[in-house]
Order: sequence, then C-alpha cells, then structure tokens
Amino acid sequence: MLPIVARTIFRIQERLLGRGTFAIVRQLEESQWWPRERLDALRASRLAELVSSAYEHTPYWREVMDRHGIAAGQVRSLADLRRFPLLDKATLRSRRDEMTRRDLRRVQLVRTSGSTNEALQFHTSSIREAHINAARIRGHRWIGVNKGDKEVYFWGAPVELNAQDRLKRLRDRMVNDMLTSALIISPQTAPEYVARWAGWRVKCLFGFPSCMVLLAQMAASLGVDLSVLKRRGLKAVCATAEVLGANRGIIADAFGVPVYDSFGLREAGLIGHECEHGTMHATDEQLILETIDPVTGNSTEGEGELVVTNLVGLAMPLIRYRTGDAVTLSATPCPCGRSLGGLTISGGRMLDFVVTSQGRWVGGVAFIYTMRAIRGVVKFQVHQERIGQLRVLLAVDKEFSADGVEQVRNVVAKRLGCDDEILVELVDDIQPAPSGKYRPVVSKVAWQLRAGDAFPPKV
Ligand SMILES: [Zn+2]
Repeated sequence: MLPIVARTIFRIQERLLGRGTFAIVRQLEESQWWPRERLDALRASRLAELVSSAYEHTPYWREVMDRHGIAAGQVRSLADLRRFPLLDKATLRSRRDEMTRRDLRRVQLVRTSGSTNEALQFHTSSIREAHINAARIRGHRWIGVNKGDKEVYFWGAPVELNAQDRLKRLRDRMVNDMLTSALIISPQTAPEYVARWAGWRVKCLFGFPSCMVLLAQMAASLGVDLSVLKRRGLKAVCATAEVLGANRGIIADAFGVPVYDSFGLREAGLIGHECEHGTMHATDEQLILETIDPVTGNSTEGEGELVVTNLVGLAMPLIRYRTGDAVTLSATPCPCGRSLGGLTISGGRMLDFVVTSQGRWVGGVAFIYTMRAIRGVVKFQVHQERIGQLRVLLAVDKEFSADGVEQVRNVVAKRLGCDDEILVELVDDIQPAPSGKYRPVVSKVAWQLRAGDAFPPKV
C-alpha cells in the first residue's frame, strides 16, 4: 500500500472511532517548538482541568482531596500537585471503579501487564487513546518514520488467530502495519520472518529489543543475511518496553540502521520517544513527570522512581501514579531545539528466553501475555536451570482460583508446545533484581547456549 493511501485509511479509521488523532498530531508538532513558558502554561491549565474533573466526577479523588485539604480550583503547579498522595498499583487495582468517570462516552476497560508485570485493568477513553496515538506518531516522525510508512510490530501477538484477530490483522495491513509474533522464535521461524519483512519492504522495525537481538544472533549463526532488510528500505529500528542498554549496539550492527528507543506504559501514556539526536523527550504536553525516592516516597531532583500524572486522561484520572520504573529527568536543552524535557531510563523490564526441548525460544514477552489471561496472578517469574524443566513462581491475590495452578500449568504447556516439566510454586512476593530491573524470565540455559559454539541448538 502506498504510504499516502495507508495514512488516509488510518485517518478515516481514527475518525470512525471518534478520535481526533491527526488534529492532535498537528498541535503537538507546533507545541514542541513553543518557548518553555508557553508549554508550562498549557500544562498548568490542563492540570487544573484534570483536578477539577476528578473532584467533580469521581468519589475516590473527591475523598482524597477532601482528606488532604486540596481545593480543586487551586491546583495549578507542580508544587500544588505534590500535595496529592502518591497513587500505587495496589490502590489503582482495588479502587479502580471509584476513580472512573461514568458520564463520558466511549470509555472502555483495558488490561495491561504493566511495566513490572503486575497485571492491571484501567479505564480509558477514545480521546485519551487519540492523544497517545498522536504522541507516538509525532515521536516516529522525529526519526523519519511517518504514519502510513511500512512498520513491522515485532510484538507479543497471538500465534493462533481467531476471527477477530484476523480482522484486526487485515485492518493493520491496510494502514501499513504488519504484526509478527515475537512470542516464539526458532531456527525455523527466524529466516521466515526476515524473508517476509524484506519482501514487504519494511521501513521501521518496532518492538522488544531482546527479541531483535535473539533474531540477529540466530540469523548470524544460520547464515541468514539481515542486510537485505536495509537494501529493501529499512531505515530505523525503534525499541520499546525494555531497558535497551548494550542491546542498542548489537541491533544497530546487525541491521545496519540507527536504533531509537521509546518508552510507554499502557496505563500512563507514551512517556518518551527518542528524537533524531538520541534524546528521549518526555511527552510534556500530556504528562507531568516527577521522581521520588522509592523507599521514603519523598520527591527527588532528577533521579528516582518515575511518578506520572496524565493530563489528558479525564476518564480515569491518574494523579501522581508510581510506575516502579527508575529514571533520570533532565531539562538540558537538546540540539534538536525542541522545548520538551528529557529522560533516561535506568531500570525497567529485561526480557530473557527459555528454550524448550524442541528448540523453540520462548521469550519473557510470551509469558507476560500468557499470564495476563489468568485471574489473580499479580506477579510471576519463570526460572530455567536446564532444558526440559521450568519453574514458575507466582504471587497471587484473592481472585486466584482453586484450580489456578493447574490453569497456569496448562497455558504454559500450550505456549511451550511440548511436554517439558512445569513446576508451579506460590510465593509471597517477587522482588526485582538489585538494579531495579524486573525479569519475568531468568534462564541460565539461554545464556549458556548463546555463548556456546552450537548456537542455535539443533534438537
Ligand atoms: Zn531532541
């Protein structure tokens, strides 16, 4: 599909969904160049509107503000905002309905795994989704990728498709988005993916860095030439959802194109996207970002746990929401000249793989999607010490059913596609690594295999 045709179809789709996405993109394209004072004035007025709306329409926020003596009309600055208590995931989970506005149209409940794999459900509206889509479109334009250009989502997509999934795939294709499941990567599928993407002439590859690194390593060991993608039009790789770190260099070398990072949380919005100079810019028009000391909860300057206030999510106001991610915020000007603030991510999700006795590499992302379907799973971690066996640790809440362990064993077995042994253990809690990075999969096997001569293993 020609990019301009795909873009037009996307435009029509968004309009049918009641989203003014492109009007917001146009606003964002202007506001990114405004003087900082003007940007801050916009944020202050959006904050005032958010707080008034929250007080007026939601019992939870009314109670919080009354308890803390916060008058709705008097919240206009970051200092005012800091009078609100922090909002944690447990409260979001337990009091969700009391935080939701009931009078708005097109409000829907969505489910997320969250950045630290704590499953969450929250309410969103068409308008909020339009803001997020628009921010993403703007961020992609910074790196030379326009909406309508061909983009592969190397993503956690279902492998077995039902009718609704098929319809969605067709719709994606019409706007030049191609979904390729990163749930399972094997010596059979890796060359197929590369051939499919090259044949389609993909311009931007978007997805989990861990999966791209594995694909690159597998391609190298199988003698599959990745440079064909660049020759066929690949311009950029855009990473998301994980700490990029050293993987940036590995991916850039393998694909021969620049690698950019983006950072979003389903419940909080698109937090940041890298510009052409490699600065991750905050979506300042839509969010107020703060940092706190994760232990005391006190505000910090620059470095700390990221706390987000979403200025455009009126359907379910998120005010001072603790993300659990470690970041450093900065106001240092970027050579690109945009007045948006900058951030770097120092903690977050790191994905690894387990390897089945059939030679399939099943990534952390696959388990995130699998566990999402089980009620009552709050956190999980999969351990693999040797091929043929997995240990699944689960921290659960009261919604976890009596046959939950059996359910977990079944869905994991289905995902693995073989009868490797699966041990399920209930634990009180699962802590992130000392670095603050949350690892859904901890696998000795994957690292040993990758370091060995016989990679990928022939089994
Ligand atoms: Zn910049």
